[in-house]
Amino acid sequence: MSLAPYACSDIHTRGRRHPEPKPAYRSEFQRDRDRIIHSAAFRRLEYKTQVFVNHEGDLFRTRLTHSIEVAQIARSIARSLALNEDLTEAIALAHDLGHTPFGHAGQDALNGCMKDYGGFEHNLQSLRVVDLLEERYAEFPGMNLTFETREGILKHCSPANARELGELGQRFLDKTWPGAEAQLVNLADEIAYNNHDVDDGLRYGLIDFDALREISLFDAQYREVESLYPGLGRRRKIHETIRRMVNSQVVGLIENSRRRLDALGASCPDDIRSAGEAVIAFSDELREQILALKRFLREALYNHYQVRRMSLKSVSVIRRLFQAFFDDIRLLPPQYQETIAACQEGGDAAEACRARTIADYIAGMTDRYAIREHERLFFPDIGG
Ligand code: MG
Repeated sequence: MSLAPYACSDIHTRGRRHPEPKPAYRSEFQRDRDRIIHSAAFRRLEYKTQVFVNHEGDLFRTRLTHSIEVAQIARSIARSLALNEDLTEAIALAHDLGHTPFGHAGQDALNGCMKDYGGFEHNLQSLRVVDLLEERYAEFPGMNLTFETREGILKHCSPANARELGELGQRFLDKTWPGAEAQLVNLADEIAYNNHDVDDGLRYGLIDFDALREISLFDAQYREVESLYPGLGRRRKIHETIRRMVNSQVVGLIENSRRRLDALGASCPDDIRSAGEAVIAFSDELREQILALKRFLREALYNHYQVRRMSLKSVSVIRRLFQAFFDDIRLLPPQYQETIAACQEGGDAAEACRARTIADYIAGMTDRYAIREHERLFFPDIGG
């Protein structure tokens, strides 16, 4: 299928930081995707969570299954809008690589530990993973991905950080938009987690079914399922409802974006970047309904007392690990000690470099690795 003129094809790429010959039998963005799939950071997503902690149940989403769901949703949308499916897939599979263990509680805790050293932000960390931290290739650090995949990974960025990122950070200073593929993965991410959190929350018994029926996105689909399949068991009714919720948001996004793309008449990817507003977008009405679902999830699920109790424990694990390593770097595995030894001698810069190295180590941990590392350091009956 031919791509739309505003889709990013190989000829539009701004290339890689370390120039490489073109791949022989793949597109540039297929190569990005393949590098992401073969990275250690990607494999670790299997044991990292968003809301729940990894050991809580085998049926819950992990960041790996979440990323695969995002890629599936995003590719469907890309294909129907004639956008670049390979680039879309690469961004989707990489979008969560920089997440800490224990979901948002973990990120907030690590950000707190790093407050005097530039903070910690998962988007920037995803970029650090692909630009620097993966050690797999002889010729360059990181994965040396294309500009467009990196642009898609970096969803938000403070002006201060943007200034340090050069070309990649420029859009945050100019207040322009990323390419269409990046815009769409961002929304596919939202569709995936809003809906699978409803699914996981119901299964775990944290979401009250009657309260959920107050939410129009859910209720409209549930009513339809009930009228079509009145005798269906509860579990299948819920799954059928969630399936329809995902579908209606995907279809809504495709149709609204198609209208906007037609109206804009873009002839190249840069027309999308400079359009002045998002081109891939939900209608105002659908956006309102999605916001109502997000508000509901925040109260019912993310702030549920059982989730908050787990978050409290996660925060204390992260803080204690960070403090212990910061106070005595000889507790770190040797390769991290070597990185710290290579930090510039003396002064604040060396201290910031030490903190950043420890943050890299902690951010790379899976939930279960962090729990075990915490036990090894603080539980006298567990061997080091
Ligand atoms: Mg995500």
